[in-house]
Amino acid sequence: MNQHDNVLADFEDTETAFAGKSTWQLRESFAVFKLFGIQSIIYIGTKIIVLGLKFKLPITWLVKYTIFKQFCGGTSIDDCEAAVDQMYKYKVGSILDYSVEACEREEDLDQVADEICRTIAKVVESEALKCSVFKMSGIITFDLLQRVSSQEQLTKKHQELWDRGVQRLDLICKYAADRKVPLQIDAEETWIQPAIDNLAEDMMVKYNTEKVIVYNTLQMYRHDRLAYLKDWYAKVNGSYKLGVKLVRGAYMEKERLRAEQLGYPSPIQSDKESTDQDFDAAMMFCLERLHQVAVFIGTHNEQSTLKAVDYMRANDIGASDPRVLFSQLYGMSEHISFNLAKHGYQVAKYVPYGPIKSVLPYLFRRAEENSSIKGHAGRELELLSREIVRRKRLV
Ligand SMILES: Cc1cc2nc3c(=O)[nH]c(=O)nc-3n(C[C@H](O)[C@H](O)[C@H](O)COP(=O)(O)OP(=O)(O)OC[C@H]3O[C@@H](n4cnc5c(N)ncnc54)[C@H](O)[C@@H]3O)c2cc1C
Repeated sequence: MNQHDNVLADFEDTETAFAGKSTWQLRESFAVFKLFGIQSIIYIGTKIIVLGLKFKLPITWLVKYTIFKQFCGGTSIDDCEAAVDQMYKYKVGSILDYSVEACEREEDLDQVADEICRTIAKVVESEALKCSVFKMSGIITFDLLQRVSSQEQLTKKHQELWDRGVQRLDLICKYAADRKVPLQIDAEETWIQPAIDNLAEDMMVKYNTEKVIVYNTLQMYRHDRLAYLKDWYAKVNGSYKLGVKLVRGAYMEKERLRAEQLGYPSPIQSDKESTDQDFDAAMMFCLERLHQVAVFIGTHNEQSTLKAVDYMRANDIGASDPRVLFSQLYGMSEHISFNLAKHGYQVAKYVPYGPIKSVLPYLFRRAEENSSIKGHAGRELELLSREIVRRKRLV
């Protein structure tokens, strides 16, 4: 029998996957994923939502009771409590993700930083919360991150704003380090990522000396990221611990389009297979170096998840080892999250929250991802319908 046969079989166990959901909730999820299968609805739907909000039409209820309900925990930390508690009944943890991005005004950036600190404080209070996460573009403007990434000489005004941003970041990281709460920095567009990488590395030098507090995210759909990981590891040479969050990457279409429009080579791998290969190679690189690295495996890909599980089993790395955390997004791949947790693995769902208008970019990314030909909607529909039929047979 193959090492992972038990867990593989369990990825088909829809009873465990959806134990926390009523049949009505399953039907609602089914309807949302079914809509995602119709590409024209996603295209027209996103346009209607953007226009509706622009012209102040009462459109938020439509979002709230469809995609928001499927993919977000609520509009505030307190609002997320029910979802967080429900998942933790099955040992699936949560990561509160204040999904407000690309802020412009200093007071908004300060407000986001305060909210991130509130999510960190919550982790100390609740066993169900595993760590905290944020986007750099929520606390430093996108414009500034882009200027610094392109090594532009900053004006005095920009330099002042940059210093304030770095101060904000340091405050958040210190707040997390003082409370021993792991903190992940999301990856964003390639044209702001160099600044994010440098800031993340600076924070790790400061706060990852004894254990991993700060994690940086690597998007393995980029063809340069495996080399970056290896060079980074060699450069650090044991001087601090690396926190590595691995994802495939959420901005593929945008990245390819920009590269084409501006006439530079696309930073994205030529095909999905290359992305998969690099994701797995990076994951193995980290798993083989747990004395120096903590790895956060952010994926809905069953094969990558099973590879990690296989490696852990074969190398006597305990399922509950805190240096390996599996994560999926709220509302997606319950079959992976709940079945991994059942086998004792450390699992936490990203639970996005925030005002509906502010989380729209996040929701549109989920819609785009799930509506793509190779997206996960088909698998979600298959599992949901199987569970609905199974329950019907019981009555
Ligand atoms: C917990 C968690 C945290 C996340 N945080 C971030 C983050 O900080 N930043 C971020 O950008 N994304 C983030 N994501 C989203 C992530 O990058 C993926 O978009 C999403 O998870 C789908 O990838 P997958 O591994 O789950 O599934 P899969 O279905 O195996 O992979 C789909 C992904 O493969 C890549 N891909 C698809 N087609 C091609 C192709 N033709 N050529 C090359 N590559 C291709 C794309 O990245 C696509 O999203 C996060 C996801 C999770 C689960």
